[in-house]
Amino acid sequence: MTVNHDSAGSIPAARAILIREAFNMKIPKKVKVGGITYKVKRVDLIHGGTTICGQCDCNRSAIELLNSSKKQQMELTFLHELLHTIFYHCDIEQDEHVVEALAQALYMIIKDNPGIFKD
Ligand SMILES: [Zn+2]
Repeated sequence: MTVNHDSAGSIPAARAILIREAFNMKIPKKVKVGGITYKVKRVDLIHGGTTICGQCDCNRSAIELLNSSKKQQMELTFLHELLHTIFYHCDIEQDEHVVEALAQALYMIIKDNPGIFKD
């Protein structure tokens, strides 16, 4: 499923693509953390009647993101779940508040410094 919530407006197509590449996180289908490949799936996530944005199952090496999330929410959730895998890999105690604070901070830095690692 391709979700595109961009509002490129009247920006010429080529420039719009450049802007998209600079600002958009590409959520991969797989992500490798500490030598382990995690599958990233977009699914309907309902637990006990409650819809959740994402979850990480380190034992199954799987990250699941809510299919119907808006782009920004999905990117933030991806970082959040990715941080859970990093904490798992580094044997750091999982702490929702720390994970969420780091996810928000990382997301802000990635968005405020587009193309930070580009040559
Ligand atoms: Zn969490």
